[in-house]
Amino acid sequence: MEILDNGEFSFSHDNLQRDFDLLRQALDASITGIIITDHQQPDNPIIYCNSAFEKLSGYTRKEIIGHNCRFLQREDRNQKERLILREAIQSGKDCVVEIRNYRKSGELFWNELYMSPIIDENGKVTHFIGVQNDVTRRKKAELELLHHQQVMEQKIEERTRVIRESEEYLASIYQTVRESLIVLDPNFGVLSVNEHFLKTFKVSLGETEGKKLYELGNGQWDIPPLKQLLEDVLPTNNPVENFEVEHDFPHIGKKLMLLNAHRIELEGKYKDRILIAIEDITERREIERRKDDFLSIASHELKTPLTTVKGYVQMMSRFMPENSSDKFKGVVEKTGVYIDRLNNLISELLDVSRIQTGNIELHKEQFDFDKMVHETVEGMQAANKDHQIIIKGKATNSFVGDESHLIQVLNNLLSNAIKYAPESREVLIYLSTVSNYLKVSVIDHGMGINIEDQKRIFERFYRVGDIQQHYPGMGIGLYICDQIIKNHEGTLWVESEKGRGSTFSFTLPLNERAGNE
Ligand code: ADP
Repeated sequence: MEILDNGEFSFSHDNLQRDFDLLRQALDASITGIIITDHQQPDNPIIYCNSAFEKLSGYTRKEIIGHNCRFLQREDRNQKERLILREAIQSGKDCVVEIRNYRKSGELFWNELYMSPIIDENGKVTHFIGVQNDVTRRKKAELELLHHQQVMEQKIEERTRVIRESEEYLASIYQTVRESLIVLDPNFGVLSVNEHFLKTFKVSLGETEGKKLYELGNGQWDIPPLKQLLEDVLPTNNPVENFEVEHDFPHIGKKLMLLNAHRIELEGKYKDRILIAIEDITERREIERRKDDFLSIASHELKTPLTTVKGYVQMMSRFMPENSSDKFKGVVEKTGVYIDRLNNLISELLDVSRIQTGNIELHKEQFDFDKMVHETVEGMQAANKDHQIIIKGKATNSFVGDESHLIQVLNNLLSNAIKYAPESREVLIYLSTVSNYLKVSVIDHGMGINIEDQKRIFERFYRVGDIQQHYPGMGIGLYICDQIIKNHEGTLWVESEKGRGSTFSFTLPLNERAGNE
Protein backbone atom coordinates (compact mmCIF):
# COMPACT_ATOMS: atom_id res chain seq x y z
CA MET A 1 0.00 0.00 0.00
CA GLU A 2 1.27 3.39 -0.89
CA ILE A 3 0.01 6.74 0.41
CA LEU A 4 -0.34 9.21 -2.43
CA ASP A 5 0.36 12.96 -2.29
CA ASN A 6 -3.34 13.74 -1.98
CA GLY A 7 -3.55 11.49 1.14
CA GLU A 8 -5.35 8.60 -0.62
CA PHE A 9 -4.16 4.98 -0.60
CA SER A 10 -2.91 3.06 -3.65
CA PHE A 11 -2.97 -0.77 -3.57
CA SER A 12 -0.80 -3.06 -5.66
CA HIS A 13 -2.26 -6.49 -6.49
CA ASP A 14 0.73 -8.33 -5.06
CA ASN A 15 0.40 -7.00 -1.57
CA LEU A 16 -3.40 -6.79 -1.38
CA GLN A 17 -3.82 -9.15 1.54
CA ARG A 18 -1.06 -7.46 3.54
CA ASP A 19 -2.47 -4.00 2.89
CA PHE A 20 -5.95 -5.14 3.79
CA ASP A 21 -4.70 -6.51 7.13
CA LEU A 22 -2.93 -3.25 7.79
CA LEU A 23 -6.10 -1.26 7.29
CA ARG A 24 -8.10 -3.64 9.48
CA GLN A 25 -5.50 -3.28 12.22
CA ALA A 26 -5.78 0.49 11.90
CA LEU A 27 -9.55 0.31 12.24
CA ASP A 28 -9.25 -1.98 15.24
CA ALA A 29 -6.84 0.44 16.88
CA SER A 30 -9.40 3.24 16.70
CA ILE A 31 -11.31 4.11 19.89
CA THR A 32 -14.35 5.02 17.79
CA GLY A 33 -16.80 2.23 16.96
CA ILE A 34 -17.00 1.59 13.23
CA ILE A 35 -19.40 -0.64 11.31
CA ILE A 36 -20.03 -1.25 7.63
CA THR A 37 -23.43 -2.38 6.37
CA ASP A 38 -24.21 -3.92 3.00
CA HIS A 39 -26.94 -1.92 1.39
CA GLN A 40 -27.36 -4.39 -1.44
CA GLN A 41 -28.46 -7.20 0.79
CA PRO A 42 -31.94 -7.36 2.29
CA ASP A 43 -32.35 -5.32 5.52
CA ASN A 44 -28.94 -3.69 5.26
CA PRO A 45 -26.96 -6.15 7.49
CA ILE A 46 -23.70 -5.30 9.27
CA ILE A 47 -20.84 -6.92 7.48
CA TYR A 48 -17.98 -5.45 9.46
CA CYS A 49 -17.38 -3.96 12.95
CA ASN A 50 -14.15 -2.99 14.61
CA SER A 51 -13.17 -3.93 18.15
CA ALA A 52 -14.10 -0.48 19.52
CA PHE A 53 -17.66 -1.21 18.42
CA GLU A 54 -17.51 -4.58 20.22
CA LYS A 55 -16.39 -2.76 23.35
CA LEU A 56 -19.03 -0.09 22.93
CA SER A 57 -21.92 -2.50 22.42
CA GLY A 58 -20.73 -5.31 24.66
CA TYR A 59 -21.48 -7.84 21.88
CA THR A 60 -18.84 -9.94 20.13
CA ARG A 61 -18.25 -9.65 16.41
CA LYS A 62 -19.92 -12.98 15.99
CA GLU A 63 -23.12 -11.69 17.56
CA ILE A 64 -23.03 -8.50 15.51
CA ILE A 65 -22.31 -9.51 11.97
CA GLY A 66 -25.48 -10.13 9.92
CA HIS A 67 -27.76 -7.95 12.13
CA ASN A 68 -29.38 -4.71 11.18
CA CYS A 69 -28.14 -1.84 13.37
CA ARG A 70 -31.55 -1.49 14.99
CA PHE A 71 -30.80 -4.36 17.37
CA LEU A 72 -28.97 -1.77 19.53
CA GLN A 73 -32.27 0.07 20.19
CA ARG A 74 -34.00 -2.90 21.80
CA GLU A 75 -37.60 -1.95 22.74
CA ASP A 76 -36.85 1.77 22.75
CA ARG A 77 -38.27 2.11 19.24
CA ASN A 78 -40.06 5.40 19.30
CA GLN A 79 -37.12 7.75 19.02
CA LYS A 80 -37.53 10.42 16.39
CA GLU A 81 -33.86 9.91 15.40
CA ARG A 82 -34.91 6.62 13.76
CA LEU A 83 -36.85 8.53 11.14
CA ILE A 84 -33.84 10.68 10.35
CA LEU A 85 -31.71 7.57 9.93
CA ARG A 86 -34.28 5.80 7.77
CA GLU A 87 -34.68 8.79 5.52
CA ALA A 88 -30.90 9.16 5.11
CA ILE A 89 -30.55 5.46 4.23
CA GLN A 90 -33.43 5.60 1.75
CA SER A 91 -32.11 8.68 0.03
CA GLY A 92 -28.46 7.59 0.24
CA LYS A 93 -27.33 10.61 2.20
CA ASP A 94 -25.17 10.97 5.25
CA CYS A 95 -26.50 12.02 8.64
CA VAL A 96 -25.57 12.42 12.31
CA VAL A 97 -27.90 11.52 15.18
CA GLU A 98 -27.68 11.10 18.93
CA ILE A 99 -29.66 8.02 19.72
CA ARG A 100 -30.38 5.90 22.79
CA ASN A 101 -28.81 2.46 22.42
CA TYR A 102 -28.41 -0.46 24.79
CA ARG A 103 -25.36 -2.57 25.50
CA LYS A 104 -25.60 -6.33 25.74
CA SER A 105 -25.83 -5.91 29.52
CA GLY A 106 -28.99 -3.82 29.02
CA GLU A 107 -27.20 -0.61 30.08
CA LEU A 108 -28.28 2.52 28.22
CA PHE A 109 -25.70 4.55 26.34
CA TRP A 110 -26.03 7.57 24.13
CA ASN A 111 -24.62 6.86 20.73
CA GLU A 112 -23.46 9.70 18.52
CA LEU A 113 -23.85 7.97 15.17
CA TYR A 114 -22.47 9.30 11.92
CA MET A 115 -23.82 7.40 8.88
CA SER A 116 -22.25 7.89 5.55
CA PRO A 117 -23.05 6.04 2.25
CA ILE A 118 -20.52 4.44 -0.08
CA ILE A 119 -21.46 5.06 -3.70
CA ASP A 120 -20.08 3.05 -6.67
CA GLU A 121 -19.13 4.36 -10.07
CA ASN A 122 -22.75 4.05 -11.26
CA GLY A 123 -23.92 6.32 -8.46
CA LYS A 124 -25.50 3.43 -6.59
CA VAL A 125 -25.29 3.15 -2.83
CA THR A 126 -23.58 -0.10 -2.01
CA HIS A 127 -22.67 0.24 1.64
CA PHE A 128 -23.01 2.49 4.69
CA ILE A 129 -20.30 3.24 7.15
CA GLY A 130 -21.42 3.96 10.68
CA VAL A 131 -19.04 5.80 13.01
CA GLN A 132 -20.18 5.61 16.61
CA ASN A 133 -19.09 7.33 19.78
CA ASP A 134 -20.35 6.86 23.33
CA VAL A 135 -21.46 10.37 24.39
CA THR A 136 -23.41 9.24 27.46
CA ARG A 137 -21.48 11.43 29.86
CA ARG A 138 -21.94 14.58 27.81
CA LYS A 139 -25.57 13.75 27.15
CA LYS A 140 -26.20 13.10 30.84
CA ALA A 141 -24.65 16.45 31.75
CA GLU A 142 -26.75 18.13 29.06
CA LEU A 143 -29.91 16.43 30.28
CA GLU A 144 -29.14 17.31 33.90
CA LEU A 145 -28.56 20.89 32.87
CA LEU A 146 -31.82 20.91 31.00
CA HIS A 147 -33.58 19.40 34.00
CA HIS A 148 -32.09 22.03 36.32
CA GLN A 149 -33.07 24.70 33.89
CA GLN A 150 -36.64 23.42 33.81
CA VAL A 151 -36.77 23.17 37.60
CA MET A 152 -35.39 26.71 37.88
CA GLU A 153 -37.88 27.99 35.34
CA GLN A 154 -40.67 26.31 37.26
CA LYS A 155 -39.44 27.87 40.48
CA ILE A 156 -39.15 31.29 38.91
CA GLU A 157 -42.65 30.93 37.49
CA GLU A 158 -43.96 29.93 40.92
CA ARG A 159 -42.14 32.83 42.63
CA THR A 160 -43.40 35.26 40.03
CA ARG A 161 -46.93 34.00 40.59
CA VAL A 162 -46.58 34.37 44.38
CA ILE A 163 -45.12 37.87 44.00
CA ARG A 164 -47.84 38.86 41.56
CA GLU A 165 -50.49 37.49 43.89
CA SER A 166 -49.09 39.27 46.92
CA GLU A 167 -48.76 42.46 44.88
CA GLU A 168 -52.41 42.16 43.90
CA TYR A 169 -53.29 41.34 47.49
CA LEU A 170 -51.46 44.42 48.79
CA ALA A 171 -52.91 46.58 46.04
CA SER A 172 -56.42 45.47 46.96
CA ILE A 173 -55.76 46.34 50.61
CA TYR A 174 -54.25 49.66 49.55
CA GLN A 175 -57.34 50.43 47.50
CA THR A 176 -59.88 49.18 50.03
CA VAL A 177 -58.51 50.84 53.15
CA ARG A 178 -60.82 53.58 54.45
CA GLU A 179 -57.92 55.95 54.83
CA SER A 180 -56.26 58.08 52.20
CA LEU A 181 -52.81 56.82 51.28
CA ILE A 182 -50.09 58.53 49.24
CA VAL A 183 -46.66 57.20 48.33
CA LEU A 184 -44.01 59.84 47.62
CA ASP A 185 -40.54 59.61 46.14
CA PRO A 186 -37.65 61.24 48.03
CA ASN A 187 -38.35 64.53 46.20
CA PHE A 188 -42.00 64.54 47.33
CA GLY A 189 -43.27 63.55 43.88
CA VAL A 190 -46.48 61.49 44.09
CA LEU A 191 -45.84 57.89 42.97
CA SER A 192 -49.30 56.57 43.79
CA VAL A 193 -52.50 57.33 45.67
CA ASN A 194 -55.41 55.09 46.56
CA GLU A 195 -59.09 55.34 45.66
CA HIS A 196 -59.97 56.81 49.02
CA PHE A 197 -57.59 59.72 48.49
CA LEU A 198 -59.11 60.49 45.09
CA LYS A 199 -62.65 60.37 46.49
CA THR A 200 -61.94 62.38 49.63
CA PHE A 201 -60.03 65.17 47.95
CA LYS A 202 -62.10 65.11 44.77
CA VAL A 203 -59.16 64.79 42.41
CA SER A 204 -58.38 62.49 39.49
CA LEU A 205 -55.44 60.15 39.12
CA GLY A 206 -54.09 62.26 36.25
CA GLU A 207 -54.07 65.36 38.42
CA THR A 208 -52.12 63.54 41.12
CA GLU A 209 -49.64 60.88 40.07
CA GLY A 210 -46.30 62.19 38.89
CA LYS A 211 -46.96 65.65 40.37
CA LYS A 212 -45.15 67.16 43.34
CA LEU A 213 -47.18 66.90 46.55
CA TYR A 214 -46.93 70.61 47.29
CA GLU A 215 -48.14 71.54 43.82
CA LEU A 216 -51.25 69.34 43.91
CA GLY A 217 -54.60 71.15 43.57
CA ASN A 218 -53.15 74.66 43.38
CA GLY A 219 -50.82 74.07 46.30
CA GLN A 220 -53.52 72.83 48.70
CA TRP A 221 -50.95 70.55 50.37
CA ASP A 222 -48.40 73.28 50.69
CA ILE A 223 -48.96 73.50 54.45
CA PRO A 224 -45.81 74.83 56.17
CA PRO A 225 -45.86 72.71 59.38
CA LEU A 226 -46.60 69.57 57.34
CA LYS A 227 -43.83 70.43 54.92
CA GLN A 228 -41.38 70.81 57.78
CA LEU A 229 -42.31 67.42 59.25
CA LEU A 230 -42.21 65.60 55.92
CA GLU A 231 -38.85 67.09 55.07
CA ASP A 232 -37.50 65.60 58.29
CA VAL A 233 -38.86 62.10 57.64
CA LEU A 234 -36.05 60.96 55.31
CA PRO A 235 -32.95 62.57 56.82
CA THR A 236 -33.85 61.87 60.46
CA ASN A 237 -35.91 58.73 59.89
CA ASN A 238 -38.42 60.15 62.35
CA PRO A 239 -41.93 59.10 61.43
CA VAL A 240 -44.69 61.69 61.57
CA GLU A 241 -47.24 60.31 64.00
CA ASN A 242 -50.80 61.53 64.55
CA PHE A 243 -50.08 65.00 63.28
CA GLU A 244 -53.28 67.03 63.18
CA VAL A 245 -53.71 69.46 60.32
CA GLU A 246 -56.71 71.65 59.76
CA HIS A 247 -56.91 73.00 56.28
CA ASP A 248 -59.48 74.78 54.16
CA PHE A 249 -59.47 72.94 50.83
CA PRO A 250 -60.82 74.82 47.79
CA HIS A 251 -63.40 72.21 46.67
CA ILE A 252 -64.22 70.35 49.83
CA GLY A 253 -64.03 72.95 52.56
CA LYS A 254 -62.45 72.73 55.97
CA LYS A 255 -61.03 69.36 56.95
CA LEU A 256 -59.38 68.16 60.10
CA MET A 257 -56.89 65.44 59.28
CA LEU A 258 -54.71 63.08 61.23
CA LEU A 259 -51.47 62.36 59.40
CA ASN A 260 -48.98 59.53 59.76
CA ALA A 261 -45.90 59.36 57.56
CA HIS A 262 -43.19 56.73 57.46
CA ARG A 263 -40.07 56.17 55.44
CA ILE A 264 -40.12 52.86 53.59
CA GLU A 265 -36.91 51.18 54.65
CA LEU A 266 -36.60 48.48 52.00
CA GLU A 267 -33.42 48.40 49.95
CA GLY A 268 -33.63 48.69 46.17
CA LYS A 269 -36.57 49.92 44.16
CA TYR A 270 -38.70 51.02 47.10
CA LYS A 271 -35.93 52.64 49.13
CA ASP A 272 -36.61 56.00 50.68
CA ARG A 273 -40.19 56.26 49.63
CA ILE A 274 -42.54 58.01 52.01
CA LEU A 275 -45.91 56.52 52.83
CA ILE A 276 -48.46 59.00 54.13
CA ALA A 277 -51.74 57.87 55.66
CA ILE A 278 -54.36 60.57 56.05
CA GLU A 279 -57.36 60.04 58.27
CA ASP A 280 -60.19 62.49 57.93
CA ILE A 281 -61.28 63.15 61.51
CA THR A 282 -63.49 66.18 60.81
CA GLU A 283 -66.69 64.28 61.47
CA ARG A 284 -65.35 62.35 64.45
CA ARG A 285 -64.23 65.56 66.13
CA GLU A 286 -67.60 67.13 65.49
CA ILE A 287 -69.36 64.14 67.10
CA GLU A 288 -66.98 64.28 70.07
CA ARG A 289 -67.63 68.00 70.42
CA ARG A 290 -71.37 67.44 70.37
CA LYS A 291 -71.03 64.69 72.98
CA ASP A 292 -69.00 67.03 75.22
CA ASP A 293 -71.58 69.77 74.73
CA PHE A 294 -74.31 67.34 75.67
CA LEU A 295 -72.38 66.28 78.78
CA SER A 296 -71.88 69.84 79.85
CA ILE A 297 -75.51 70.88 79.22
CA ALA A 298 -76.93 67.72 80.81
CA SER A 299 -74.85 68.07 83.96
CA HIS A 300 -75.74 71.78 84.25
CA GLU A 301 -79.42 70.97 83.82
CA LEU A 302 -79.22 68.19 86.44
CA LYS A 303 -77.36 70.34 88.91
CA THR A 304 -80.09 73.04 89.23
CA PRO A 305 -83.01 70.80 90.34
CA LEU A 306 -80.62 68.83 92.52
CA THR A 307 -79.58 71.96 94.38
CA THR A 308 -83.28 72.69 94.99
CA VAL A 309 -83.91 69.12 96.24
CA LYS A 310 -80.88 69.43 98.52
CA GLY A 311 -82.34 72.68 99.93
CA TYR A 312 -85.66 70.97 100.62
CA VAL A 313 -83.97 68.05 102.38
CA GLN A 314 -82.00 70.50 104.50
CA MET A 315 -85.29 72.27 105.34
CA MET A 316 -86.89 68.93 106.18
CA SER A 317 -84.19 68.09 108.69
CA ARG A 318 -84.28 71.62 110.16
CA PHE A 319 -88.07 71.66 110.57
CA MET A 320 -88.31 68.04 111.62
CA PRO A 321 -90.78 67.72 114.53
CA GLU A 322 -89.18 66.70 117.86
CA ASN A 323 -91.28 63.61 118.11
CA SER A 324 -90.44 62.20 114.66
CA SER A 325 -89.50 58.55 114.66
CA ASP A 326 -85.84 57.54 114.41
CA LYS A 327 -86.70 55.67 111.24
CA PHE A 328 -88.00 58.86 109.59
CA LYS A 329 -84.95 60.84 110.79
CA GLY A 330 -82.71 58.12 109.33
CA VAL A 331 -84.50 58.28 105.96
CA VAL A 332 -84.05 62.06 105.74
CA GLU A 333 -80.36 61.77 106.69
CA LYS A 334 -79.74 59.04 104.07
CA THR A 335 -81.52 61.13 101.42
CA GLY A 336 -79.06 63.94 102.22
CA VAL A 337 -76.08 61.55 101.85
CA TYR A 338 -77.28 60.23 98.47
CA ILE A 339 -77.97 63.74 97.21
CA ASP A 340 -74.38 64.65 98.12
CA ARG A 341 -73.11 61.61 96.24
CA LEU A 342 -75.16 62.49 93.20
CA ASN A 343 -73.98 66.05 93.46
CA ASN A 344 -70.34 64.86 93.47
CA LEU A 345 -70.89 62.72 90.37
CA ILE A 346 -72.46 65.59 88.50
CA SER A 347 -69.63 67.90 89.60
CA GLU A 348 -67.12 65.41 88.21
CA LEU A 349 -68.95 65.37 84.87
CA LEU A 350 -68.94 69.14 84.86
CA ASP A 351 -65.22 69.08 85.62
CA VAL A 352 -64.64 66.87 82.58
CA SER A 353 -66.45 69.24 80.28
CA ARG A 354 -64.62 72.19 81.81
CA ILE A 355 -61.29 70.45 81.21
CA GLN A 356 -62.35 69.68 77.64
CA THR A 357 -63.14 73.30 76.95
CA GLY A 358 -60.11 74.52 78.91
CA ASN A 359 -62.36 76.30 81.38
CA ILE A 360 -61.01 74.84 84.59
CA GLU A 361 -60.11 77.63 86.98
CA LEU A 362 -57.34 77.40 89.54
CA HIS A 363 -57.52 79.41 92.74
CA LYS A 364 -53.99 79.25 94.00
CA GLU A 365 -53.33 80.20 97.60
CA GLN A 366 -50.79 79.34 100.23
CA PHE A 367 -51.91 76.52 102.57
CA ASP A 368 -50.54 73.84 104.90
CA PHE A 369 -50.21 70.83 102.62
CA ASP A 370 -49.55 68.22 105.34
CA LYS A 371 -52.50 69.48 107.39
CA MET A 372 -54.72 69.26 104.32
CA VAL A 373 -53.63 65.62 103.85
CA HIS A 374 -54.35 64.77 107.49
CA GLU A 375 -57.80 66.42 107.40
CA THR A 376 -58.72 64.72 104.11
CA VAL A 377 -57.65 61.36 105.51
CA GLU A 378 -59.72 61.97 108.65
CA GLY A 379 -62.81 62.63 106.57
CA MET A 380 -62.17 59.57 104.40
CA GLN A 381 -61.43 57.41 107.47
CA ALA A 382 -64.71 58.43 109.11
CA ALA A 383 -66.65 57.21 106.10
CA ASN A 384 -64.63 53.99 105.62
CA LYS A 385 -64.32 52.15 108.88
CA ASP A 386 -63.21 48.84 107.31
CA HIS A 387 -59.88 50.24 106.08
CA GLN A 388 -57.15 51.88 108.08
CA ILE A 389 -55.46 54.78 106.35
CA ILE A 390 -51.93 55.36 107.65
CA ILE A 391 -49.91 58.50 106.89
CA LYS A 392 -46.12 58.27 106.97
CA GLY A 393 -43.60 61.09 106.52
CA LYS A 394 -43.98 64.78 105.89
CA ALA A 395 -44.08 66.94 102.78
CA THR A 396 -44.53 70.63 103.55
CA ASN A 397 -46.67 72.93 105.63
CA SER A 398 -46.49 75.72 103.10
CA PHE A 399 -47.57 75.12 99.56
CA VAL A 400 -49.06 77.41 96.96
CA GLY A 401 -51.80 75.76 94.94
CA ASP A 402 -55.52 75.14 94.57
CA GLU A 403 -56.30 73.41 97.86
CA SER A 404 -59.82 72.23 96.98
CA HIS A 405 -58.57 70.69 93.72
CA LEU A 406 -55.73 68.89 95.51
CA ILE A 407 -58.20 67.60 98.13
CA GLN A 408 -60.21 66.26 95.20
CA VAL A 409 -57.10 64.41 93.90
CA LEU A 410 -56.36 62.91 97.30
CA ASN A 411 -59.99 61.90 97.85
CA ASN A 412 -60.06 60.26 94.47
CA LEU A 413 -56.85 58.29 94.95
CA LEU A 414 -57.91 57.23 98.47
CA SER A 415 -61.40 56.19 97.47
CA ASN A 416 -59.95 54.14 94.56
CA ALA A 417 -57.39 52.55 96.93
CA ILE A 418 -60.28 51.50 99.18
CA LYS A 419 -62.73 50.59 96.41
CA TYR A 420 -60.30 48.41 94.44
CA ALA A 421 -58.84 46.67 97.52
CA PRO A 422 -61.92 45.23 99.21
CA GLU A 423 -59.96 42.32 100.71
CA SER A 424 -57.18 44.36 102.27
CA ARG A 425 -57.42 46.47 105.41
CA GLU A 426 -54.71 49.04 105.01
CA VAL A 427 -53.99 52.02 102.80
CA LEU A 428 -50.68 53.88 103.16
CA ILE A 429 -49.88 57.46 102.32
CA TYR A 430 -46.23 58.44 102.06
CA LEU A 431 -45.38 62.12 102.17
CA SER A 432 -41.89 63.29 101.26
CA THR A 433 -39.89 65.93 99.45
CA VAL A 434 -37.58 65.02 96.59
CA SER A 435 -35.29 67.75 95.31
CA ASN A 436 -37.59 70.73 94.69
CA TYR A 437 -40.74 68.65 94.65
CA LEU A 438 -43.15 67.28 97.20
CA LYS A 439 -44.16 63.70 96.61
CA VAL A 440 -47.33 61.89 97.67
CA SER A 441 -47.79 58.15 97.22
CA VAL A 442 -51.04 56.32 97.91
CA ILE A 443 -50.38 52.61 98.30
CA ASP A 444 -52.93 49.83 98.37
CA HIS A 445 -52.65 46.04 98.42
CA GLY A 446 -55.66 45.42 96.22
CA MET A 447 -56.31 43.91 92.82
CA GLY A 448 -53.63 45.88 90.95
CA ILE A 449 -53.67 46.88 87.28
CA ASN A 450 -51.96 45.14 84.37
CA ILE A 451 -49.42 47.00 82.23
CA GLU A 452 -51.71 47.54 79.25
CA ASP A 453 -54.43 49.10 81.38
CA GLN A 454 -51.91 51.21 83.31
CA LYS A 455 -51.27 53.13 80.10
CA ARG A 456 -54.95 53.93 79.66
CA ILE A 457 -56.54 54.51 83.07
CA PHE A 458 -55.81 58.25 82.93
CA GLU A 459 -57.96 58.59 79.79
CA ARG A 460 -61.46 59.86 80.36
CA PHE A 461 -64.18 57.21 80.68
CA TYR A 462 -61.62 54.40 80.69
CA ARG A 463 -62.30 51.61 83.16
CA VAL A 464 -60.53 48.25 83.36
CA GLY A 465 -62.88 45.78 81.69
CA ASP A 466 -63.12 42.53 83.59
CA ILE A 467 -64.07 43.35 87.17
CA GLN A 468 -65.44 46.81 86.74
CA GLN A 469 -69.08 45.76 86.50
CA HIS A 470 -68.88 45.03 90.22
CA TYR A 471 -67.55 48.45 91.22
CA PRO A 472 -69.44 51.70 90.72
CA GLY A 473 -67.71 54.50 88.84
CA MET A 474 -67.56 56.44 85.58
CA GLY A 475 -63.86 56.24 84.77
CA ILE A 476 -63.26 59.97 85.05
CA GLY A 477 -61.68 60.35 88.52
CA LEU A 478 -58.09 59.68 87.41
CA TYR A 479 -58.54 61.79 84.29
CA ILE A 480 -59.52 64.76 86.45
CA CYS A 481 -56.70 64.06 88.94
CA ASP A 482 -54.18 63.96 86.12
CA GLN A 483 -55.41 67.28 84.73
CA ILE A 484 -55.36 68.94 88.15
CA ILE A 485 -51.79 67.75 88.81
CA LYS A 486 -50.75 68.90 85.33
CA ASN A 487 -52.33 72.29 86.01
CA HIS A 488 -49.99 72.51 89.00
CA GLU A 489 -47.00 71.64 86.77
CA GLY A 490 -46.76 68.24 88.46
CA THR A 491 -46.80 64.59 87.38
CA LEU A 492 -49.14 61.76 88.35
CA TRP A 493 -48.28 58.12 87.66
CA VAL A 494 -49.00 54.57 88.71
CA GLU A 495 -46.86 51.56 89.51
CA SER A 496 -48.78 48.36 89.89
CA GLU A 497 -48.73 44.62 89.57
CA LYS A 498 -51.86 42.67 88.83
CA GLY A 499 -53.10 40.97 92.01
CA ARG A 500 -50.58 42.66 94.29
CA GLY A 501 -51.76 46.25 94.62
CA SER A 502 -51.08 49.69 93.21
CA THR A 503 -49.13 52.79 94.11
CA PHE A 504 -50.39 56.08 92.70
CA SER A 505 -47.85 58.87 93.17
CA PHE A 506 -47.72 62.53 92.25
CA THR A 507 -45.07 65.18 92.54
CA LEU A 508 -45.67 68.92 92.69
CA PRO A 509 -43.02 71.61 92.32
CA LEU A 510 -42.38 73.36 95.66
CA ASN A 511 -41.73 76.69 94.00
CA GLU A 512 -42.38 78.29 90.65
CA ARG A 513 -38.79 77.76 89.54
CA ALA A 514 -38.94 73.99 89.94
CA GLY A 515 -42.09 73.84 87.84
CA ASN A 516 -40.49 75.85 85.06
CA GLU A 517 -37.25 73.88 84.98
P1 ADP B 1 -63.57 54.91 88.37
O1 ADP B 1 -62.96 54.46 89.65
O2 ADP B 1 -64.75 55.77 88.55
O3 ADP B 1 -63.81 53.80 87.43
P2 ADP B 1 -61.06 56.27 87.85
O4 ADP B 1 -60.71 57.21 86.75
O5 ADP B 1 -60.81 56.75 89.23
O6 ADP B 1 -62.55 55.85 87.61
O7 ADP B 1 -60.21 54.98 87.61
C1 ADP B 1 -60.14 54.43 86.32
C2 ADP B 1 -59.92 52.92 86.40
O8 ADP B 1 -58.61 52.66 86.91
C3 ADP B 1 -60.84 52.23 87.34
O9 ADP B 1 -62.06 51.89 86.73
C4 ADP B 1 -60.04 51.01 87.76
O10 ADP B 1 -60.19 50.02 86.78
C5 ADP B 1 -58.60 51.47 87.70
N1 ADP B 1 -58.09 51.84 89.05
C6 ADP B 1 -58.00 53.07 89.58
N2 ADP B 1 -57.43 53.02 90.80
C7 ADP B 1 -57.16 51.73 91.04
C8 ADP B 1 -56.56 51.02 92.13
N3 ADP B 1 -56.13 51.66 93.24
N4 ADP B 1 -56.42 49.68 92.03
C9 ADP B 1 -56.84 49.03 90.93
N5 ADP B 1 -57.41 49.63 89.86
C10 ADP B 1 -57.56 50.97 89.92
